[in-house]
Amino acid sequence: MRHIAIIGSGPAGYYTAEACRNIFGETARIDVIDRLPVPFGLIRTGVAPDHQSIKAVSRRYEAVALTDTVRFVGNVRVDRDIDIAELQTLYDAVVIATGAPQDRPLAIDGADLPGVVGSAQFVGWYNGHPDHARLNPPLNGTHAAVIGNGNVALDVARILAKTPEEFAGSDIVAHAREALATSHIRHITIVGRRGPHQIAMTPKELAELGKLTRAGAWVDPADLPEVSLDAALEPGLRKSVALLREFATDTAPDKAVTISFDFFAMPIAIEGDGWAERLIVERTRLDDKGAAIRTGAPYAIPASLIVSCIGYQTPPIKNVPYDEKGGRFVSDEGRVAPGLYCVGWARRGPTGTIGTNKPDGVMIADKIAQDIGNASGKQGRVGLDALLAQRGVEVVTFRDWQNIDAEEIARAPEGAPREKFTDIAEMVKAAGKAS
Ligand code: NAP
Repeated sequence: MRHIAIIGSGPAGYYTAEACRNIFGETARIDVIDRLPVPFGLIRTGVAPDHQSIKAVSRRYEAVALTDTVRFVGNVRVDRDIDIAELQTLYDAVVIATGAPQDRPLAIDGADLPGVVGSAQFVGWYNGHPDHARLNPPLNGTHAAVIGNGNVALDVARILAKTPEEFAGSDIVAHAREALATSHIRHITIVGRRGPHQIAMTPKELAELGKLTRAGAWVDPADLPEVSLDAALEPGLRKSVALLREFATDTAPDKAVTISFDFFAMPIAIEGDGWAERLIVERTRLDDKGAAIRTGAPYAIPASLIVSCIGYQTPPIKNVPYDEKGGRFVSDEGRVAPGLYCVGWARRGPTGTIGTNKPDGVMIADKIAQDIGNASGKQGRVGLDALLAQRGVEVVTFRDWQNIDAEEIARAPEGAPREKFTDIAEMVKAAGKAS
């Protein structure tokens, strides 16, 4: 028997489990360990609550987890309940699939003012991640700024702009649904340090901004490059830019909420008297390599809520080589050392879609197959269970998760798929264990 431990039950973890199961079949036992009592990582707490079709991929992971080969071991935190060296003693292969749940810091003056939050926090808040459920972002001002030109910036702007009715069928958590229903925010500025041709927004997600009930998107025509230059763009980006051009033709969107794109605007400071009141940006131009160069013309964008959507990083794990600049683990295409691997965002940084993790998982499973023999005599899950029991860790199994799942579904408001628990103790209780 081969024993494999995967840390993290998000897309990277499950695709790796699936690939290992496909290679080793009944000759392996695979434990997917997660610090939360609930599985699915980014699918549950990263993907936007109004993007339910994307969340449907969890059904595929469920099918993997409901076999004897693959086991979910929830509510177990590496570096608190067990460390990497111990896991390596128990398992032939240990795979780090912890994603990138932390915000890359916005390194400008005033970034620590109340009202400035990172997208991991803000997205975690509206998705009910236990780490961020109590964020309580200020929604009492009229202006918000969203920094970054990626899909996360689009998610954040859209969630801020939607009416309560537009959340029908979503699994946005009650505290966010209620707070957003009374939000005073009417002007949302999406700030990009480069231009329309440099956005990282995909057309489907960008098109959604044009279909909101009470919000209209607007682009300053002066920021758009000459239309003939679009021909050289990759087709997806060309479609996104075409949408920006449509937004630029709507000079006076007759909507209660405006979403304005402010391109060529480099955030340089946040100012305010005790809390965020304005984002100071400086006009940029692009150099011949497409990098943003400051031009020395600062101006202020009013904003009492500033959400920085500039990318994520993986938290380090004790004794695993870590690339501080890249915010991910150091590896040779996923092999940290024989027997220790990283996969997904923990390996490559926060890029790509959920599906990108599938080939990544296959690559790591192949490396594991090259590195480990048939049977090492390691203890695997038997040893893990003994150690966790000895330490009094309340493990949540996949069956336990199904109890949580059933309760979340049972208490859902009408039309919603679920009402999530947002607190670890509540989750453990719903799992059927004493909290
Ligand atoms: P992203 O796509 O890498 O975008 C990050 C943005 O932040 C870029 O526009 C970048 O600008 C900007 N930025 C970085 N540092 C900055 C700074 N110091 N000041 C100002 N701007 C800065 O990251 P993301 O939006 O967090 O998304 C992460 C991944 O998840 C992406 O692959 C994304 O497509 C995916 N995702 C997909 C969906 C979906 O499919 N529905 C939803 C959400 C996320 P530069 O280009 O100038 O560096």
